[in-house]
Amino acid sequence: MRDEMEPNMVEGDDAPVMDLVIPCFDEQEVLPTTAGVVGRKMRSLMESGVISSKSRIIFVDDGSTDATWQIISSLHASDPSVMDGIKLAHNRGHQNALLAGLMEALRRGCDAAVSMDADLQDDPDAIDEMLEHYRSGEQIVYGVRSARDTDTHFKRDTAHAFYGLMRKMGTEVVDDCADFRLMGRPALEALSRYGEVNLFLRGIVPTLGFRTGKVFYERAERAAGTSKYPLRKMMAFAIQGITSFTAAPMHWVMGAGVIAVLFSIVMIVYTLVSMALGHVVSGWSSLMISVWLVGGLIMISLGVVGEYVGKIYLETKHRPRYTIEERLD
Ligand code: UDP
Ligand code: MG
Repeated sequence: MRDEMEPNMVEGDDAPVMDLVIPCFDEQEVLPTTAGVVGRKMRSLMESGVISSKSRIIFVDDGSTDATWQIISSLHASDPSVMDGIKLAHNRGHQNALLAGLMEALRRGCDAAVSMDADLQDDPDAIDEMLEHYRSGEQIVYGVRSARDTDTHFKRDTAHAFYGLMRKMGTEVVDDCADFRLMGRPALEALSRYGEVNLFLRGIVPTLGFRTGKVFYERAERAAGTSKYPLRKMMAFAIQGITSFTAAPMHWVMGAGVIAVLFSIVMIVYTLVSMALGHVVSGWSSLMISVWLVGGLIMISLGVVGEYVGKIYLETKHRPRYTIEERLD
């Protein structure tokens, strides 16, 4: 065992190529501001030699209906050495847009990619620290919010409840980490092997493995424009997170069935005693017994069917079963 892990060094001692991936959906109000801030950040990182001058910002237009793509195109035209972009054919949602950007960065041969929101809620200055972690050998560095004062109470509480529930159901999620994180090339390659259509990156990334780290930052207010995650989308996102990761709700159906059958035993005793004492309407006993017993059996059967459906569901994802991190040849 070596006592020091191999740091993320790049051949020829060059600085790593770090692409910054920013999904944008109808962000015309905030995009010029964001581009200014992150553009300066990238340039200063390049000038100080922390990242390679081949690094780019990849804006992903997630099928916007406003001038977002025109803005991205003109940013690229005026500064092609930093600003770049891809346009999705239609709105596929934040997670898919993010994946598209990360895979684009991988395709272009980046050494690492950082993803962040378009609204400057994620602090671009945290990228420096992420890169430090990366240089020390960490393949995944999470940006974790140290303060969420700028989010509404409702959003904070529901988010915490949701993460708690996810963990109870056996999914690893990093608390208070949105999608602001750095991923090294090996981690991106591992991610590229996840073939699932229902994407929940916050759940997938922790399952990739690798050495990981955390960087804390303060979550700012949205710089301009309005949230693209209304309650409706938040709910859909939560349900997506649960159903694309675990078959736990099906185990619960099974559990409820077992409880119902156990309870039916109590009811059988109670009913038979009442019948023996003679003060019951005729037909009541058989009805009472069948309602509980049959109800419980139906729930158990549903649970059993659910278990198989759950297995089929997980199999159809064709997730990679392992990722090799290092080879000694
Ligand atoms: N976003 C996207 N596609 C969508 C919805 C959102 O690419 O369908 C992007 C959006 O442009 C932003 C990020 O996802 O960069 C996070 O969205 P937002 O800031 O509106 O969410 P909130 O911070 O309010 O949760
Ligand atoms: Mg936001």
